[in-house]
Amino acid sequence: MGGKTALLVVDLQEDFLPPDGSLAVANGREIIKPIIELLTSKKYKWDAVIATKDWHPSDHISFAKTHAVTPYTTKLLSSPDHSGETKLHTLWPVHCVQNTLGSEFPKEFNDVFEKLLGLQTVPTKIVLKGYLQDREYYSCFEDVWGLHKTECAQYLRDNGITDVVAVGIAYDFCVMNSCIDSAKNGFKTYVIKDLTKAVFPDKDEETTANYEKHNVTVITSTSEKLKDWQV
Ligand SMILES: [Zn+2]
Repeated sequence: MGGKTALLVVDLQEDFLPPDGSLAVANGREIIKPIIELLTSKKYKWDAVIATKDWHPSDHISFAKTHAVTPYTTKLLSSPDHSGETKLHTLWPVHCVQNTLGSEFPKEFNDVFEKLLGLQTVPTKIVLKGYLQDREYYSCFEDVWGLHKTECAQYLRDNGITDVVAVGIAYDFCVMNSCIDSAKNGFKTYVIKDLTKAVFPDKDEETTANYEKHNVTVITSTSEKLKDWQV
């Protein structure tokens, strides 16, 4: 027998989706339907399902507005542990503020996911990230400084998960960093590339190489590998 596999849906939220998202990723809505299919088709047997949400306070440190500068400028920010360590950050438009429309799952996904959350036929959970004001998160496992861990890794371990399959937004930011941390945490990690969208699709080759460098397997929705997760 193989291991136990979790499906991880990263940041499928209105602010990352066209046409109205403040940080919309081109063609983001195209992946909603096939992701719902992964969740609802009797063909697939997941042992756990997690959907993540970027979940910021309105004055979050990653917002350009917080620093009174233009979105997409970069700024050197210091570690919240006052160690003196600094990292260059891209500052974003205000996005995914807690309890706003932009932080919500798209309705058609939410309808399905809420049902699964209620039923708990398999362990199903929302993991929030980005709620501490003073630090950026791309990964759903921890902040960019590796100081604060979310409950993601523990939840996967508690449910005996060995393998993680990721989809969502964005291929080159939150999905990538979540996958890298998933692999670091010892989970065999896969990303279904055509069920993600990138902020910078012209850099896909570079992004894919980075996944592979960090022991994450990049597959597509037509890969043979998907049969391993089918009934
Ligand atoms: Zn964010």
